[in-house]
Amino acid sequence: MPLRIGNGYDIHRLVGDRPLILGGVTIPHDLGLLGHSDADVLTHAIMDALLGALSLGDIGYYFPPTDPQWAGADSLKLLEQVDQLIHHKGWQIGNLDTVIVAERPKLKPHIATMRDRLAAVLHLDPEQIGIKATTNEKLGPVGREEGIAAYAVALLVKDEG
Ligand code: MG
Repeated sequence: MPLRIGNGYDIHRLVGDRPLILGGVTIPHDLGLLGHSDADVLTHAIMDALLGALSLGDIGYYFPPTDPQWAGADSLKLLEQVDQLIHHKGWQIGNLDTVIVAERPKLKPHIATMRDRLAAVLHLDPEQIGIKATTNEKLGPVGREEGIAAYAVALLVKDEG
C-alpha cells in the first residue's frame, strides 16, 4: 500500500514558571507546559503520528525522558530527526491534521505562525498542515487549565520508485 496513516496524542501539565511553546511558537501566557523537553505538546503529537504511521513506536522510545540529552530540548529539532527517519524509510508526508485543546489563551492569532514554523522544519507547504484549536468547555483537567492536550493525524505517501 502506498499510503499509511498515523495518529498521535499528548498532554502536558500547565505550571506557572515555564514558557508556553506550541508548534515551535512561544505564546505569551501566564502559564507554560511542564516537561523534560520544551513540552511542546503539539509537536509531540505530530511526531507520534508520524512514527505511528510506520509502526515505528513512539517518541518516548527515540527520545526517552530519562535521557539528560533531551532535557529542555527544542521539540522542533526532535521533529526534524523524526522527519529524516520517515524519509530514510522511503516515505513523505501527504498532510497533517491536528487539534490543540486548551482553555486559554486564545490560540487563533498564533496558528498561522505555527503552521509556517512546522512547514519549514518538515519542508512542506503550510497548506499541508492543519491546526485547529478548541477549548474543553471547562470540562475535566484541560477545562480546569491543569494542562493542554493535542491530537494529530498524519498521512504518509510512499516515495516513487
Ligand atoms: Mg510530550
